[in-house]
Amino acid sequence: MRGDSRPLIAAILGLAAIGAIIAVMRLALPRLARHREQQLLGANYERVEAEGLEVWAPRKSNLAAWLARWFGAFTRALYEAHGKTLALEPVEDKIVVRVFATRAELVRFARKRMKQDLSHAGGFYDPASWSIALTLLPRERLLPVVFHEATHLVMDRSAPGGPPEWSTWLAEGMAVYLEHSMAQGQRLVVGGVSRRAAAQVVALAATGRHIPLRRLVNGGRELFRGPQAPLAYQEAGLLVAFLMTSRRYRDGFLRYYAIERKPGPAPPETLESCLGTTCEKLEKEWLAWLKVVGG
Ligand SMILES: [Zn+2]
Repeated sequence: MRGDSRPLIAAILGLAAIGAIIAVMRLALPRLARHREQQLLGANYERVEAEGLEVWAPRKSNLAAWLARWFGAFTRALYEAHGKTLALEPVEDKIVVRVFATRAELVRFARKRMKQDLSHAGGFYDPASWSIALTLLPRERLLPVVFHEATHLVMDRSAPGGPPEWSTWLAEGMAVYLEHSMAQGQRLVVGGVSRRAAAQVVALAATGRHIPLRRLVNGGRELFRGPQAPLAYQEAGLLVAFLMTSRRYRDGFLRYYAIERKPGPAPPETLESCLGTTCEKLEKEWLAWLKVVGG
């Protein structure tokens, strides 16, 4: 006698129905999300996909391919230069980049949708959604902002266990150091310094008006939000540049970076113990280097 095959058929039909629902949702949900995004941004914005980026930008700005090219060139050059030393992982998922026509639009959007504070004028990176928001600028001024935000994204993505609680000076210092990357012929030279900023810090330090290194590294987010924020960003970038290129401190700095990458905040004395010096001694050497760099 043959067994009753009806339960089996019912199970197969049930699975097929679930599969069909999942397939429809997979197709429908991204469309729905795009539709909502379009409504939120308005008819003046268009969505273009290019090489791993989903770019929302003002219509006819032709930014998508340009952004994708530079984002890709920067991350590739970054892995090549520091992939091993900083234990960086390639960015594989699609990254959403929104370019706003005005700074006011960017701020409005960021307040609503992003977790990042608004201290850095040029752009924002949101660790919760792995997305970047920028203000439309002439391309040569937009490029450093792209490098800056891409640095935050790559650093966070490469940390085990999700975005770590980087010390603010380190996260912003790395981003400022790397925003000064420059194209030289076909190559992108990763990292750099602003000679003008170096000269400015030297001039301020001569009359004690700079931010002392001890305060820079222990000042936390507040220092990078307050009235001294622009100087804090510059000094953090110049300190990272010094430590990354110093024969004496580079290895200690990389050890410090590895500790910062781990989940949870690093104890405040970590930098000094990794470098084997005090903030005050380090500051003297840093200022001497800035004098040479600033010319
Ligand atoms: Zn930043």
